[in-house]
Amino acid sequence: KPQVFLGEASLMPHEYVHSWNGKFRRPAKLWQPNFQTPEHTRMLWVYEGLTNYWGEVLSARSGLFTPAQYRAMLAFTAAGQDHRPGREWRPLIDTTVGEPMGGFGVDYGNWRRGDDYYDEGVLIWLGVDVKIRELTHDQRSLDDFAKRFYGMDNGSYVTRTYTFDDLVNALNVVAPYDWASYFHKLLDRTSDHAPLAGLTNSGWKLVYSSTPNPYEEARGVIHHFTRTLFSVGFTTNDKGVIGDVLWNSPAFKAGLAPGMQLVSVNGVKFSPKVFLHAIAGITKPGQGKLVFVASGSGITGTYTFDYSGGLRYAHLQRTEGTPDYLGQIIAPVK
Ligand SMILES: [Zn+2]
Repeated sequence: KPQVFLGEASLMPHEYVHSWNGKFRRPAKLWQPNFQTPEHTRMLWVYEGLTNYWGEVLSARSGLFTPAQYRAMLAFTAAGQDHRPGREWRPLIDTTVGEPMGGFGVDYGNWRRGDDYYDEGVLIWLGVDVKIRELTHDQRSLDDFAKRFYGMDNGSYVTRTYTFDDLVNALNVVAPYDWASYFHKLLDRTSDHAPLAGLTNSGWKLVYSSTPNPYEEARGVIHHFTRTLFSVGFTTNDKGVIGDVLWNSPAFKAGLAPGMQLVSVNGVKFSPKVFLHAIAGITKPGQGKLVFVASGSGITGTYTFDYSGGLRYAHLQRTEGTPDYLGQIIAPVK
C-alpha cells in the first residue's frame, strides 16, 4: 500500500541514525555494564528525540519523503503534540524518567503523555537546528554538531558515552548560546502549548484547514483511525470504536470515552463516511450539535455537544518574507 510507504517512510532512516545516536554515542547512564543494572532514561529526548528528528530529515534529504510529504508529516507531529493537554501537568522530562515504569496506557494518551519524548523531541531539535542557523547567519547548522559529536574514533565499535554537559558544550562550540537553559525550559516545565517556536522560526507556521493531510491519512489507514482528533477531539476506527478522547474536550465533557462504540451520528447509523459528513457539515458557530448514540460496558446512551469547526486538518504554511530554514534543512546535502 502506498500509505504504508508514506506513513512508515522514516522508520529505516531512524534506525540507521541509531548507529551513531544511541549505539555509538550514548547517554552515560543509558549505558550499563550488565543487564541487571537499571538504565537511567532521563536523556531519551536525545537518544530517541534527536534520532526521530534526523530520521525524518534524512527521509526528506534522501527522497523517501518529498518536501511536501515531509511538511505534512511535520504538521501532523506539531498539531499532535499541540493536542496533548497532559503537558499542563506533566513536563516532558517526566515521560523519559517514567519510561521504565511503562507509562504506555493507550486510553487518554493525550493526558498521560506516554512516550512524548519521541515526537516532541522532533520539535525541540528542529528548534536547535534553526537557532544554530540564526545565530551563525547560515554558516552552521545541526549538521556541524553531528560531525563533531559523532565523528570520532573512526572504525571503533566501542560505545562512547556522554553527559548533558558534554552535549551542551558540543553545541556551544558550533554556536555559543545558553543551551542548558534552552533545554531546561522545554524539558522541565509544564505548558499550555507544544514547543512550536522552532517550527515558527523555520519560516513556516502551523495552520488548520478542511483539506486532508496526506501523512495523517496514511497513518490513519495503517492504524485504523478517523482523522478527527483536531476537529471533534476524538477518533474512531472503521467500526465506530472510539480511540483516544482529548481530555476536557467537549466530547470528553459530554461523556464519550475510549472503548465506547458509536451506534449512530445525528440519527444516522454509524459509518466513517456518515461520521465525517456530519462533522464537515457544521462550520459556523451556533449552527449545530452533534448527537451520538454510543454503547460501552453494556450501557447505551445519547451523548450531545455543540460543534462548529467543520473538518480540521493540520498543514504548514510558508511565512513569506522570512528565511526558509526548513527548506534548507531538508534539501539534499551536496
Ligand atoms: Zn529509536
